[in-house]
Order: sequence, then C-alpha cells, then structure tokens
Amino acid sequence: WGRRKNVTSVLAEQLPREIIGLLRRFGELGQELHYKVYAVGGFVRDLLLRRPNLDIDIVVEGDGIRFAKAFAEREGIRARCHKKFNTAVLIFDERLKVDVATARLEYYQYPAALPVVQFGSLKMDLYRRDFTINTLALALNPDEFGQLIDFFGGQRDIKDKAIRVLHNLSFVEDPTRILRAIRFEQRFGFRVGKQTASLMRHAVKIGLIDRLGGQRLFHEIQHILMEEDPVPAVRRMAEFGVLEVICPNVCFDAKAVETLLQIKEVLSWYELSFLEEPLEGWRVYLLGLLSRLHYRDLGKVLERLDLPKNMRERIAWTFQRVNEVLGDFLRLPPPRPSAIYRALQPFRPEEILFMMATTQREEVRRAISHYFHRYRHVQPEIRGRDLQEMGIPPGPIYAKILDRVLDARLNGELRSRQEELALARAMAWRELGAGEGKQ
Ligand code: ATP
Repeated sequence: WGRRKNVTSVLAEQLPREIIGLLRRFGELGQELHYKVYAVGGFVRDLLLRRPNLDIDIVVEGDGIRFAKAFAEREGIRARCHKKFNTAVLIFDERLKVDVATARLEYYQYPAALPVVQFGSLKMDLYRRDFTINTLALALNPDEFGQLIDFFGGQRDIKDKAIRVLHNLSFVEDPTRILRAIRFEQRFGFRVGKQTASLMRHAVKIGLIDRLGGQRLFHEIQHILMEEDPVPAVRRMAEFGVLEVICPNVCFDAKAVETLLQIKEVLSWYELSFLEEPLEGWRVYLLGLLSRLHYRDLGKVLERLDLPKNMRERIAWTFQRVNEVLGDFLRLPPPRPSAIYRALQPFRPEEILFMMATTQREEVRRAISHYFHRYRHVQPEIRGRDLQEMGIPPGPIYAKILDRVLDARLNGELRSRQEELALARAMAWRELGAGEGKQ
C-alpha cells in the first residue's frame, strides 16, 4: 500500500470548507456503491506543496461513469461522460470541474459471477503517470478519509525537490514528458533528478522529440510559455538540447535571453497597468523566441509545430510590419497621436508588446505606452446616425468623415460633440458640394 499518513489537517488548512465537503461526499457515494474513491495527481501534489489548485482529479476503483452519473444526479449537476475511456467530467460551475477516471482491473471468480475489482488497480493507474510527485493519492472513503497513499516515493521527492520518472522507459513511452519535466522543475523550483536528467538527455539524443506530432509538441511549448516565468524553463530547454532539435539553427545566446527578459518586463508593466485587459502573454514569448530565427528557418519551425495556416501567416506578417512600424516611429518629426494610433491599431496587444520589448528606443516605448494608456479606446462621440440626421447621403464618405473626426479627436483638435459635428459638416460641405448637407 505504500506509505500512509493522514493529512486531514493539511486539507483543513489548505482547502475551502465546501471543497472538503465535496471530497467527503465523493467518498460517501463511493462507500454506498462499494467503490474506493481517491483524489489523485496534481491536486494532491499541490496540496502538499501548499499551492492553491482546485483542478480535482478523482480515480474510482469501480465503474467511474456509473459513479459520476450517480453523483451528478444526487447533486443536481451535469456529468459529461466519455464511454470509450471510462471517464467523466462533473461540471459544477465555470470554476469547478472534477475529472473522474476509472481504475478497473476486473476479474470474474467464476462464469457469470459479479466482477470483483482487483485490489491494487489504483497502483496500476498511478504507475502510468509521468513523475513520482504526480503519483500521490488521497483516500476519500469515510473509513480512511484523508489517508495519503504513496506507492512511488512522491513525498520523498517533494521533500527533496526532485522531478523523477517512475521507470527508465518513461520518456520513450511519452516524449512530451521531457518538456513536462522542465515545466514542473521551473514551476516548483525543483530539479530534475540525476538519473532522470540522464534519461532525458538520452531521449533527446536518440531523436524521440522528432517522433512527436507538431500539435503535441506545440501544446507543450505553449504550456511552458504560459508559466509564470518561462525564461528559466526556455533556458533549460536549450540546456537539454530540446530547442536545438526543434530548430537546428536556433541560437539561444545572450541576445535571445535578453529578448525574453525584456518581454517579461514589458508583460509585467502591462499587467500592472491594465489589470482588466485580457492578455495572452505566451504569444509574446513565442514571438520573442521565433524572432531569433532566420526567415528561412522560421517557415520550417512553424511547419514543424503544425500551426494553423492563419496563425503562421499572422506571425510572418507581424515580423514584417513590426519592422516597418519601428522604422516609421523613429523618423522625424515624431508621429502625431493619430499616426501612432493608425500604425498600432491593426496589431493585437501581444504583438505590440513584442514590438515594445524588441526596441530599446525610449521614444518608441513612450509612443506605445501612450497608445495603450490614451489612444486605443478613443472614439468619436458622433456616429453614422448623426451624419444621417445631418442629411448626408450614406456612402464611403461616412467612413472618411468618422476617421477624420477620430484623428482630430486623438490629436486634441476637437474637444466636444459640437466640434465633431462642425467638422463633419464642413467635410460634407467640401466633399459633396454646397447644398447637400442640411445646415
Ligand atoms: P497543471 O498544473 O499544469 O495542469 P497537473 O499535473 O496538475 O499540471 P495535468 O497536466 O492536467 O495537470 O495532468 C494531470 C495529471 O495527469 C498529472 O498530475 C499527471 O499525473 C498525469 N499526466 C498528464 N500528462 C501526462 C503524461 N504525458 N504522462 C503521464 N502522466 C501524465
């Protein structure tokens, strides 16, 4: 059974009371159905690490789907079942979803007998996992609620701050674990164990990463770039030779590190300044990494990662346009607010932040900062409806007038709705000739 220890006090200290109640109810239903039920994986790991995590994974020794359906019915919630995999998701609300998996190793004592769930199927389930720190289980049935089950030395490795695989073929079985090891190592401030590190190096050397499909590979890279601070993880990817196999010509030199560090700084500036504006920071890091590539290699890497066509085109477009815009911003005289707005408006915030990170020029950074702080949400007070009411016949002139009004507004030439209307009227007068716009 591995080493057992009761961690109910840790549960009480770390989890909201409703979650503990929920875990208890899982166990109670398990008891009624004669199943053993466990919380497993990242949830238990993070519990011991005292890191908040409400992504709950449950393993049922028994019929997981039957369990999920019964639980959903009792609680009046929804269960989404995947018959093929014997798994289900219990959907409580937006924030709380619980994955239910089946650990079942049934055997029949005699023909037509009821199946007996073999003792130990939890262990088999946990043995398939990536690292020892992810193999901890928490018993939920009432008679053993809060018992920590540790078959593979997960507690020891958490204490040692070590990422270790369970067996020597782990990376062969699934090479994405190479990237997962790096991600967990950096996230928790752990270190890949010596033996595991040598298995990783070997796996990279014999080309296991090449066997991964582009989408799986990209998914893992994306997850690394989504970490709080991906820079050390990218550095580790370089150390393990992972970057090099993904892109043979990538040069992860001091300049590349500098770019990523600049991105980190720019992102924290943005996040502090605009708490409410959603941002996908990983996209900025991705641009930063790709920007180190020669144009020819860029195409190859994007293909290797099997990115959707529109995303590939967008990345190529971004690199090209960013250089043009940076050039324009440095010309004299400095661009007016409307010119800054027009130059930056076609970009997503992530692309603009990449631009900001790649330039050292104070005037460009200032222009971008002004764009985010002052210009990007500016709109004319008048609308098409106002032009209609003035009697201007609808047509391309509407866009022309509204654009001009916006520019004037951005440049501080207009301050009120009245002034906007006056400008619109004057433009219509000029463009359409006297007599058409109502006075
Ligand atoms: P995160 O916090 O990034 O979501 P996690 O470990 O909490 O990490 P997942 O990555 O969703 O969550 O994985 C859930 C569990 O499934 C892990 O704890 C791990 O045991 C197992 N797992 C996920 N991917 C693999 C894999 N490639 N090989 C083996 N086990 C895996």
